[in-house]
Amino acid sequence: MRERSTGRSTGGTTGKSTGKTDVIVIGGGYAGVLAANRLTRRDDVAVTLINPRPTFVERIRLHQLVAGTDDAVVEYRDILAGDVRLVVDTVTRINAPGREVGLAAGGTLGYDHLIYAVGSGSAEPRVPGAAEFAHPIAGLEEAERLRAALDATPATAPVTVVGAGPTGIETAAELAEGGRAVTLVCGRVLGPYLHPRVRRSVTKRLVTLGVTVIEGPGATVTEVTHEAVRLDDGRELPSGVTVWTVGFGVPDLAARSGLSTDTLGRLLTDETLTSVDDPRIVAAGDSAAPSDLPFRMSCQAAVQLGPQAADTVVSRIAGEHPEPLGVAFAGQCISLGRGVGVFQFARRDDTANRFHLGGRAGAKLKEFICGHTVKQLADEAAEPGSRARRFTDAGRRRLLRAGEGGTPATAERAV
Ligand SMILES: Cc1cc2nc3c(=O)[nH]c(=O)nc-3n(C[C@H](O)[C@H](O)[C@H](O)COP(=O)(O)OP(=O)(O)OC[C@H]3O[C@@H](n4cnc5c(N)ncnc54)[C@H](O)[C@@H]3O)c2cc1C
Repeated sequence: MRERSTGRSTGGTTGKSTGKTDVIVIGGGYAGVLAANRLTRRDDVAVTLINPRPTFVERIRLHQLVAGTDDAVVEYRDILAGDVRLVVDTVTRINAPGREVGLAAGGTLGYDHLIYAVGSGSAEPRVPGAAEFAHPIAGLEEAERLRAALDATPATAPVTVVGAGPTGIETAAELAEGGRAVTLVCGRVLGPYLHPRVRRSVTKRLVTLGVTVIEGPGATVTEVTHEAVRLDDGRELPSGVTVWTVGFGVPDLAARSGLSTDTLGRLLTDETLTSVDDPRIVAAGDSAAPSDLPFRMSCQAAVQLGPQAADTVVSRIAGEHPEPLGVAFAGQCISLGRGVGVFQFARRDDTANRFHLGGRAGAKLKEFICGHTVKQLADEAAEPGSRARRFTDAGRRRLLRAGEGGTPATAERAV
């Protein structure tokens, strides 16, 4: 790992290295690692990745961490290019005019270009008692706390999983397979993304595992207490451990730093992933809102947007106009315990079609995708630029034309 000397220095500031363009990547998740690795193609670029932990979190395996079937972490040395400098810290503020970031440990780091890839986490629960008594699962430390809570609870105690998106479904299945008495409270519908046929097959598998599935009218949680979950039809479900999987939120770093965001707090960018406020700031992954038309928060989008953010930075360094983004979704792959899974295929616009692959083949495909995702990071570290695919999305272009009168917001316009 290359350590750099201080340059643009004020007080505790470290920054510009001699002769190189400094790029800081905030966030060492799927998007950030791919962006950082890809940038090492350039000998004239010095890349610094800032992340709060010294290990990479495989968020797509956090339900496995909770159930004890995987630890969901990977060493950065296995996936990060040797030329990337890893700073284990949290960015507390972006000073865009001053081109520096503030660090929680103190001091600042200067940059020429910045990639904002801070990802997502659990959404703030709005239901009374949920923040106090329910366990979120979207981040490593949350998943670890949930696991400890389960370990401290008798194996026969009822466990309630609230929320039946992919995270809730996977968690319910994994815990039930481990012998827990699980109730899945879906709100209105289980797996809103899924085609009705696939939804029926997922429900069947959950029931086979012993999960009590509650959906339809009256299946919305209105209160969580220490030992129960209340539903809007008045039912009270005893709950020794309550797991909260209702939606993702994003860090408020961009908003706190005075940068334009969408209503959720994702950095608002143009179609080249460039901040609408500042051409030196580029976003990728769950924390990006290109043209205020963000993609589904997913690893699937993050691994495509990370490399494209790096390409945008490289184009800007060269004084060229970056290419517009291109993302394609294949569908949604959900594990239903260790031995069964389902791959719901989708159209290009990320809506489910009637095709799926289930059973053992679905489980194998899911495991392949999880392993392959980490391999992609390692491949890009070993051979920067290997993830070159950029899809053309005619549907998105049409949506943009309809919404923006043909002209998406651009950083150049803002400047
Ligand atoms: C249980 C579970 C299962 C999932 N399964 C799937 C799946 O099967 N398929 C799929 O496509 N998606 C899945 N997802 C969603 C997927 O994990 C996320 O969409 C994906 O991780 C987003 O990648 P990212 O790189 O944008 O951000 P992240 O992976 O969230 O990484 C962001 C990084 O930035 C760091 N960071 C945040 N703030 C700061 C700061 N201020 N300073 C420095 N660093 C910071 C974070 O600590 C983190 O390391 C799942 C999520 C969960 C929780």
